[in-house]
Order: sequence, then C-alpha cells, then structure tokens
Amino acid sequence: MAGKAKTAAIQNLGCSKNQIDGERILALLADNEHDVVEDPALADVIIVNTCAFIKEAQEEAIDNILEMAEIRKTGRCQTLIVSGCFSERYRDKVTKEFPEVDIWAGVDDWAAVISSALFKKDPQESFKRILAEPTSTQYIKIAEGCSHKCSFCVIPSIRGKFKSRSVRDIITEAQWLYEQGTRELILVAQDTTFYGRDIGTNLIHLLESLLKQTNFPWIRMMYLHPQLVTDELLNLVASEPRICPYFDIPLQHISDTILTGMNRRPLSKDIYGLIERIKRKLPSATLRSSFIIGFPGESKDDFNRLKDFIEFARFDKMGVFPFSPEEGTPAYDMRPKTRVDIVQKRCEELMAIQQEISREILEAKIGTQTQIIIDRISDDPDFNYEGRTMGDAPEVDGRVFIQSGNFEIGQITTAKIIGASDYDMFCY
Ligand code: SF4
Repeated sequence: MAGKAKTAAIQNLGCSKNQIDGERILALLADNEHDVVEDPALADVIIVNTCAFIKEAQEEAIDNILEMAEIRKTGRCQTLIVSGCFSERYRDKVTKEFPEVDIWAGVDDWAAVISSALFKKDPQESFKRILAEPTSTQYIKIAEGCSHKCSFCVIPSIRGKFKSRSVRDIITEAQWLYEQGTRELILVAQDTTFYGRDIGTNLIHLLESLLKQTNFPWIRMMYLHPQLVTDELLNLVASEPRICPYFDIPLQHISDTILTGMNRRPLSKDIYGLIERIKRKLPSATLRSSFIIGFPGESKDDFNRLKDFIEFARFDKMGVFPFSPEEGTPAYDMRPKTRVDIVQKRCEELMAIQQEISREILEAKIGTQTQIIIDRISDDPDFNYEGRTMGDAPEVDGRVFIQSGNFEIGQITTAKIIGASDYDMFCY
C-alpha cells in the first residue's frame, strides 16, 4: 500500500493523561493523510506535547521545544506544533520567544486549532488514538480537569473544572482498546473518584458498566481522592476479581497544619481511619500514596508526624516530591519556606523508611502464587520476560522478572514468586 503524503512525529512529555492527548493528536494527523514516524528529523509535522505541572516539567518542555525548533530550521519539518499544559499556561506570554513554533494548541482547543490551521476544516469528534507501545496495557481518560482547590496545584487553572466523559463514550473507547489487544485498562483522571458528579452518575456505575460491557481481565484505577474512597467502592473492589485491588491515593501530608495550608481534606484522623477501613476490608490490597515534602511552614514536628504515619500505614508503594512553588497558586507566596537542604534530607529519610517497608512486604510474598501480566521481553539477559502483578502499576511501581516460559505479550499467567529486591520480584 502506498504511504500517505506527509509524516508526523511527536515528543510526548508528562503524565499518562497528557500522553493520551498526544495519541489523539497523532490520530487526528493520521486521519488527515499523515504517516506517523519515530524520528522527528523525518517528519513534516513535529508536535511537542508538553507538561507544566512543576518547574522541572516546564524546563523539560522548553528544552524539547528548542531542540525541535533546531530541527524545524534545518530539517524536513515545515510545521512545529506545541500542545499540552505548557502551551495552555504560557502561549500568550512566550510566542515571541519561540518564533519557530507555528501552532500553539491548548488542552481543550487542540483539535480545532490544528484542524483549522493545517487542514482548513473543523475537527470530527473522535476518541481514536495512535497507541504508544505496548498495547496490552492502556490508560483511558474518564474526565478532564479538577474541581478541588489544593493550594499548591496549577492543574485547575490549566485544565479547568472537572468534566466527566459520558459512560457511553468511555465504554466505546474501552471496547476499541480491547479490540487493539489491550488487556489491562487503567482509568485515569485528576481525581478518578470524582467521576460522574457533574453529569449525574458515579464511578461505581462506570465500573459496573465496564465490567458488564467489556472483557478486560484487569481494570485498574489511579489517582483516588482520600475524601471519596467510599465503602461502596471498597465493597465493589473486594467482590470483583477483575478490578485490581490497588488503591493509589495521593495523600500529600498527614499533619493537620500542613493539610489545612494545602487546602486539603480529609484531615489526619479521617486519613488514619481510611487506611484502617481499606486494610480491614481488603487485607491484601496494594496501597500506594505520594507526599509533598517541604510545604511552607513544615516543622520538624509536622515531619515527624509524617514519619510515624508512614510506619503505621506501611504503604506497598510510595513516592515523595519536594514542594515546588508554582506561580499563580496560593502556596507560591506562603512563608516560611523550608530550606532546600532540609527538604532533601527529609525526602531521603522518608524514602529510606519506605525502602525497608517495601523490601519486607515483597519478601513476605516469596513462595506465593500470583497473577502476572507479561509486559515485554526482558532486556536483562538473565530473564526472559518482565511483567507486573495486580499490585504494580506500569511506570511508577516495581516489576516482576521471569526466568523461563513462553508467553505472549499481554498474556496473564500465574507464577510463584521466588525472590525479591527492594522494589522488584522474581519468578521462574
Ligand atoms: S486534587 Fe490533584 S489535580 Fe486537583 S487540585 Fe488537588 S493536587 Fe491538583
């Protein structure tokens, strides 16, 4: 078959939600006579799909735009598009600084902006995506934006209020993903538990519809808000073997002073209660959380409370992030700031505690049988495959290295854990 007339390449930065937007932008170009290529030097159209969540992400966006601008000057490229959160947040201010950029597309208007500039027409409504590899595990975005007002976060000002997609839309895309070979479907939004509140439905109804109308053996949720993890949700996860018993609940802190400064609820008493409720109802569920260290005013006492909480909760997985003051957020002007060296020391201290907890939890799994999804052939010559259990999300969690066997990518198999390191496990 003859190729299409033009080519397009993308640099996808940031989170899984942004990656989905990038896959949709590529699908829009593919629908309009563009072949997708890996190498930007071979592309007529280059897209830099950016993140702007924290300072490092903004710097990464700028570096990528500059790199692609060089290719735009010297290579085949005739159109450089910048999309995503950096574009949405800064396009009015930075256009002059990047004269090589032809199109600045925002998070809501990218389809209209690109279609009108490149194809001189209105865009067609479409959920289609050009999927990044591997296809066996895919994210699906169930909503856009966020209606919370955490004082450190720029997302609501970039992505707007929480807007749920309809259940029907999500099911249609999910069925299409299954046909493409997806076996693990991961529901994402800024707050997955908020799903449906703006359109008269809820997450339970969405999950039940997905269970009924699709055949995914694994359905995983990410980014649950501690205020909205209800007993109804716990009961559904406990009773439904196709929903991964995996609770990814970014808590950000445990000190009431800091949580109040962050404008977050619930406060510590209810957070302790939530952890107890989950452990009582689903004793073998995986708990994941993340915390911000060095929020303005974080005292030694606040930090010690956090250490005690982490010893209490014994999260299976945990991430810590230094506070990043973001212009335009209430926390940007808050004082007193925590010294950078103290923040770094606290981050290291927490991760050292967590490393030990993780190792103990994984060592206790040695000898048990567990389901594993096969992700890829291993690069490590000592192993044949790499996969994950229901307790491991892709990218952020550990892996299972498998020594033998003959599997298809995306296959779900049962194997015995024979060893563990700090964050990974090993099987025959
Ligand atoms: S819930 Fe998450 S996305 Fe929403 S404001 Fe808070 S940190 Fe930002």
